[in-house]
Amino acid sequence: MYIIMGFKPIILPEACKRWADVKERGIVLVSPISGSLIPNFHQWIQWNGFNLKYHTGFDYAAYIDRTCGRVLGLPPNTEVRAIADGEARVFHPNYGYGTQITIQHTHLSVSGDGLMSSYVHVKPVFSGFSKEVKAGEVIATLHKDAGAERGRLVHLHFELVANWDYYKKEIADPASIFDELSALPIAKPQQSTRFSLSGAGYYSGLEIAHFNHLEIGAEPWNPE
Ligand SMILES: [Zn+2]
Repeated sequence: MYIIMGFKPIILPEACKRWADVKERGIVLVSPISGSLIPNFHQWIQWNGFNLKYHTGFDYAAYIDRTCGRVLGLPPNTEVRAIADGEARVFHPNYGYGTQITIQHTHLSVSGDGLMSSYVHVKPVFSGFSKEVKAGEVIATLHKDAGAERGRLVHLHFELVANWDYYKKEIADPASIFDELSALPIAKPQQSTRFSLSGAGYYSGLEIAHFNHLEIGAEPWNPE
């Protein structure tokens, strides 16, 4: 997902610090997507399409597999998990996000931190508007979302928010909080909406595609 005109930018150091404080208190956050559920998964690739100036979270969208292939798009129905306890709420915003779940992490928040996680382009697994969820609980699955950017690419747009008023857009960088997202290979170009996939055109509706010809900004993992 990307930022709509009128929203404030974006990654705020104060927001990052509030989430970093959670880690420092010894609270373990669960990764929203477990690589172990993805066949042959080895490592995430940072493929957000836009840099963080225009993009408000991390896209779990691309990875290196164990044969050193680079895979763009996750398997449909991949499970999405709550990173911590809280109250999950379902939204159907109409500005390009597709279906969104937010979780208010009341017990993680001290002195009005307003810590909240957000999961976009998902299909909730529970019925109704809201549900109390536990850390690690499956809250949704991935699917082709009519609101998803990148040509209906199956992916999770994930955000760490530090204000319960979502529209204040006080956002932390997930890569600064989740160890497995630090120092990732970067797929380029990052600042273009255009990409090509083995000759397929822009917005080609791919579910899973290899993109070996895309430039990767760091040394890929070598399986030897
Ligand atoms: Zn996104």
